[in-house]
Amino acid sequence: MPQELSEIVADVCRDVKDRIGSGRVADYIPALANIDPRKFGISIMTCDGETVSAGDADEPFSIQSVSKVFTLTLALERIGPVLWSRIGREPTGSAFNSIVQLEHEAGIPRNPLINAGAIVVTDVLLEGQGPRQTIDEIVSFLRHRADDVSVAVDAEVARSERETGDRNASLAHFMRGFGNIKGEVDDVLSVYFQQCAIAMSCRQLARAGLFLAHAGSDPLSKEQVVSEARARRINAIMMSCGHYDASGDFAFHVGLPGKSGVGGGILAIAPRRAAIAVWSPGLNEVGNSLVGSLALERLSALTGWSVF
Ligand code: GLN
Repeated sequence: MPQELSEIVADVCRDVKDRIGSGRVADYIPALANIDPRKFGISIMTCDGETVSAGDADEPFSIQSVSKVFTLTLALERIGPVLWSRIGREPTGSAFNSIVQLEHEAGIPRNPLINAGAIVVTDVLLEGQGPRQTIDEIVSFLRHRADDVSVAVDAEVARSERETGDRNASLAHFMRGFGNIKGEVDDVLSVYFQQCAIAMSCRQLARAGLFLAHAGSDPLSKEQVVSEARARRINAIMMSCGHYDASGDFAFHVGLPGKSGVGGGILAIAPRRAAIAVWSPGLNEVGNSLVGSLALERLSALTGWSVF
């Protein structure tokens, strides 16, 4: 990388500047519809502890489906590879909240990063404890990983999700009918909606994801969060499934494991180098941040960090 990281980030910001505000803010969750579409933030935290941020990098936003990476991490730590008897590891080619494959595949979701798969992951985390304890466990994990106690659930977004959550409720009931949800659907959805409604800034999110860039260990606190093999596998799933039916396109243009959320955030991992979080609320037609994806494409080109 011939240039300083700060110069590269400045170049990325300049390159996407004219596109800021494009895309469509998610409005199927009413509490997300009022976000200013012109927000844009980026934060990069390297494995050496360098941080470069720009724009609205310190403003908390709704992490939405980016939470699925962290709940997957917790569930794998809790029950290990037996998780894969209840969830697949294949991309879908369908929308994030699609139900079509579930009937053919007997209630086993294709992967843990679509809604159906993440709902099963949440059900796993609920085993042996109540919804309150479960969401506390998820928030505590994120606070610890982000090294910031201010990470919290946005109660208004959680309420808004619950009020408009019929599709997620359908997925949960459908899978319970196949025996792949063990807990009460209301409990599972309560935790799922709250985990999606966690608010974090780009800086916090990049910090929280850093262990995935560093073979499962946090390079700053030195904690081994997951084994090296597990970190590699979580990254593999992010690469193949993290952007729903645009995962192939994200791999093509960016070439990094990544996970998007309908709040407009994306967490991307450059293995052995850095964790990157971007935020821009306008989404493309698949539900991924439009300007966030462009920024990551430029960043990947300028740094040469693509894994390919
Ligand atoms: N909470 C959202 C939902 O369940 C998460 C979807 C997303 O970010 N893609 O619909």
